[in-house]
Amino acid sequence: MVVTRFAPSPTGSLHIGGIRTALFAYALARRHNGRFFLRIEDTDQNRFVEGAEAEIEEMLDIYGLAFDEKFKQSERLQLYKQEAEKLIEQGDAYYCFATKQEIDEMRSQAQEGKKTFIFRSPYRDMPLAEARTRIANGEKYVIRQKLPENHVVVFDDGVQGKMSFNTNDIDETVLLKSDGFPTYHLAVVVDDHLMGVTHVFRGVEWLPSVPKHVMLYSAFGYTMPVIAHLPVILDPDGGKLSKRKGSVSARGFLEEGYLPEAILNFLMLLGWSAPLNYEHGERERELFSLQEFVDLFDMKDVNKASPVFNREKLIWFNQKYIQSLTPDLLTLKFSNWLQKYGKDEQLKDMIIKGGPDYLQKILTLEQSRTHIFSELEQLLPPFYRHEGKANLLDSKQTKNMELDTIKQFLKDMALFIESHTLDKISHELWESFVREYADKRELKAGALFMSLRLAILETPFSPPLFEVMGILGEKEVLNRIRKYL
Ligand code: GLU
Repeated sequence: MVVTRFAPSPTGSLHIGGIRTALFAYALARRHNGRFFLRIEDTDQNRFVEGAEAEIEEMLDIYGLAFDEKFKQSERLQLYKQEAEKLIEQGDAYYCFATKQEIDEMRSQAQEGKKTFIFRSPYRDMPLAEARTRIANGEKYVIRQKLPENHVVVFDDGVQGKMSFNTNDIDETVLLKSDGFPTYHLAVVVDDHLMGVTHVFRGVEWLPSVPKHVMLYSAFGYTMPVIAHLPVILDPDGGKLSKRKGSVSARGFLEEGYLPEAILNFLMLLGWSAPLNYEHGERERELFSLQEFVDLFDMKDVNKASPVFNREKLIWFNQKYIQSLTPDLLTLKFSNWLQKYGKDEQLKDMIIKGGPDYLQKILTLEQSRTHIFSELEQLLPPFYRHEGKANLLDSKQTKNMELDTIKQFLKDMALFIESHTLDKISHELWESFVREYADKRELKAGALFMSLRLAILETPFSPPLFEVMGILGEKEVLNRIRKYL
């Protein structure tokens, strides 16, 4: 059975790259009807961040990556200790009493001699009985991995391919710390084994740890899972994904108003190529639902080159997903987003008061030109608030007009609407009224439309005015116009 896991450390907000790792691990397990676990790697007490674990779970839930079971390393301390003791008995680990100061001194000596510092403890060959006596006397210790000299460690990465290391270049790492907590290296190997993990996806930053793990697997006699290191996600400007251009956390993108399913689709293509054949001239397929991705996903299609995080492309995906929503879903998803992340409290209240039907009409009108929900938060207020205080001359089209001319036009427009009633006026009739009105008085139709827009919406930017008036309704339209008369 295929078993995968996502193993984040609760040390801050979950990075969007973590969602990609989780997505790949999730897809591989689901594709093979296997199991997908969440493992909270909370063994570094110094880096613990309150609330981070809850956020990881919340994000996996929102992004739709359901796990089958959750493990937490801090609840398994006894296990790691037992396993470390086994290694001691076998001679694959030793008790080490070196103080930080001693190690620092050795490091600076190596630096002075311009040698790379590879730590070898003075305690690595101390007789076990002697070490145990020191421990019995209350001395502080750590357990370190013991490596054979000049041994070649070979490793075949699921994505990066074959590589080898020499133990002479590797520190004898701490496995169990003096506070009784395991280090990442011990815990990851023990847990992946005990949880029956068959395939691991993780960030390439963990690749240097691999030889230590390979040696641990062999010391324990465990079978190694297939391990695939995913390349870093690059910023278009080079380097790691940067905060300056926008969010980098899984939550940040939701706050900005992206749909989780659009983000997931975007993330699928960060390092994976769909195994599909395209006819000559056919465009590569880019839209995949999570289920479609699961049905296609295989480790062999994961690339080793670093993908670039193109925010414009993400926006494109999001717009596609917004466009594909039914009016009901659009209203529901936007309302939920606004309540959770919206910044304009007054607007939130007004939208609730206005009711879902009114909101739905507006959203449907805006749908085709919306890229992310936060844009709507800017576009909606004119549908809910009207002060009657806009400067009607404040636009390119109206700036050279006489205010009285505009007022007269607004008055005539109000009469026109009233005499026909708004719902009987067709788009054509309304337009020809304005155009003829302009022609007769040698005015510009564009300027009249703009003055009406400014009076009704108090902004020069809006969806087509005629549709907007239909949504506002006759009473409201007349009310708004009259505030300027
Ligand atoms: N705890 C590590 C992290 O936060 C997990 C690495 C792994 O998956 O083995 O990325």
